[in-house]
Amino acid sequence: MPALSSLHLDIENRVQSIRENRPDWLCSKGCDHCCHHLAEIPTLSAAEWHLLAQGLATLSPQQLQSISQRMAALAEQATRPFVCPLLDQASGACPVYAQRPVACRTYGFYVQRDLGLYCHDIESLVAKGELAEVVWGNHDSIDQRLRGLGESRPLTEWFTTWEQVSR
Ligand code: SF4
Ligand code: SF4
Repeated sequence: MPALSSLHLDIENRVQSIRENRPDWLCSKGCDHCCHHLAEIPTLSAAEWHLLAQGLATLSPQQLQSISQRMAALAEQATRPFVCPLLDQASGACPVYAQRPVACRTYGFYVQRDLGLYCHDIESLVAKGELAEVVWGNHDSIDQRLRGLGESRPLTEWFTTWEQVSR
């Protein structure tokens, strides 16, 4: 199995395990707060980008044009909040959900040592002691595996190169 697929499977197993014990888990369709509040322009490994590009290739010209405009604006943006340029803001849906990057799959279910949880909604439940029994995923391990998935570049750079060769 390719390394990225293996990583996806391990993440999905951890997510399922958490969901089984917490069917009321906050992350669900319609919650797009994290897509609206990225800490920075996302960085993707080559393997993640190649998968994402397969999803982009299925979108309509109109969708791609909107994404292209948002990518260009994001590339020039210097301060937060960074909104994911792939997000369909009208519906709150991710148009490349099946091909989304690893960061989107782990957000809300994994912690990074010393940096705490990423999602403030979940972090506030942790602070109240409501998620004490949760076995979180180890984000350090994810980062280590991502380093083996090829060159890492900002999403905006991957997209610009892809757009140039797709024209
Ligand atoms: S990580 Fe937080 S903001 Fe994102 S889907 Fe989960 S609960 Fe919602
Ligand atoms: S790729 Fe999809 S899931 Fe990830 S931040 Fe963007 S819209 Fe949200």
